[in-house]
Amino acid sequence: MKFRTLDDLPEVTGKVALVRVDLNLPMADGAVTDSSRIRAALPTIADLAAKGARVLLLAHFGRPRGARNSEQSLSMVVGALQTAIGREVMFVPEIAGEVVRQAVGILRAGDVALLENTRFWPGEEKNDPELARAIAANGDFYVNDAFSAAHRAHATTEGLAHLLPAYAGRSMAAELSALEKALGDPEKPVAAVVGGAKVSTKLDVLKHLVARVDHLIIGGGMANTFLAARGIDVGKSLCEHDLASTCEEIMAEADKAGCTVHLPYDVVVATEFAAHPSSLRACNVHEVAAAEMILDIGAPAVEALGDVLKTCRTLVWNGPLGAFETPPFDAATVALAHTAAALTREGSLVSVAGGGDTVAALHHAGVADDFSYVSTAGGAFLEWMEGRELPGVKALAIGLA
Ligand code: ADP
Ligand code: MG
Repeated sequence: MKFRTLDDLPEVTGKVALVRVDLNLPMADGAVTDSSRIRAALPTIADLAAKGARVLLLAHFGRPRGARNSEQSLSMVVGALQTAIGREVMFVPEIAGEVVRQAVGILRAGDVALLENTRFWPGEEKNDPELARAIAANGDFYVNDAFSAAHRAHATTEGLAHLLPAYAGRSMAAELSALEKALGDPEKPVAAVVGGAKVSTKLDVLKHLVARVDHLIIGGGMANTFLAARGIDVGKSLCEHDLASTCEEIMAEADKAGCTVHLPYDVVVATEFAAHPSSLRACNVHEVAAAEMILDIGAPAVEALGDVLKTCRTLVWNGPLGAFETPPFDAATVALAHTAAALTREGSLVSVAGGGDTVAALHHAGVADDFSYVSTAGGAFLEWMEGRELPGVKALAIGLA
């Protein structure tokens, strides 16, 4: 993976940086409810401002489908952005053309402006070269700091890299180096935890991982599908019976590649899906009754998985081991997360995790900060786990030998 970072920039005082960031912030009643994405963009913005560039921020918000609307204008996040940056941010209600050109004329070295929601223009999602050229006309160089949007080939995530000298921003570079450490060139042995609801949403992830990791730990609803494929009666559990042969294939491929697949041998079950149900019990996977659902992995199995992690140097984790939103079905996820966090703190494990629910589960367990790296990019992280080339990342390598 080749790309230039902000450390490779020439003298940029007064130059105009077009910087793609992720400002697709969770909002309620016009207020930002979680500003972690703003915080992620700060190092890049601060660095470029300190280098004296004039900074034009590009971002999308929601799915306006190529038309302007007042509810999804990025003008809403200017306040939160100013607070986070600690300086004034000019809002420009366009992304190209004369209005932007005039705004650039007003900005001084180190000033920051936010352009309008890029998805108001249909050319953004179509990666229209004409739109990209119009945006590029107001800039001197391009910085992509939005890894979370890098799985999309859009005008501001991919197209601009063809037109201007392109650089990875600080967050993008940190994400890429963490991902490279975890799966590109990891220290062995490598373990992968793949959990979550369904096998069908993570088939490509599983297929990619079996050839690359030493231990594949399968949990969550998808473990039920694997157990069923092995002839185990999983009762009323969430299970995709039609994927039995696919699971067999994955296990055969793992076998060939020397990858050990870990399925739970004991589980936590209940007849109703509710917090602390009276029907709750732990049992061996062969003892699940017809009316019961597997909702978490059992404590002995989790302890065995912890022992597996102790023999490993690298861990990638996507997907919770149980229905962690509903206690006590968070127990296995929390316990294994604590083990991984402790091993990371001791320095014996590089741990990388990602996925919307996985990140929520790690926060719930209180260990998100102890992992080596937690990716907040949902779709892009998953595509990377599938071994796909992300167009926004690939474009950063244009012109580099
Ligand atoms: P991520 O967003 O991290 O990629 P997923 O969306 O694939 O993760 O899966 C998360 C969901 O899987 C959670 O809502 C969780 O409740 C559910 N889940 C995990 N284990 C089970 C299970 N045994 N039965 C039903 N749902 C489960
Ligand atoms: Mg999810």
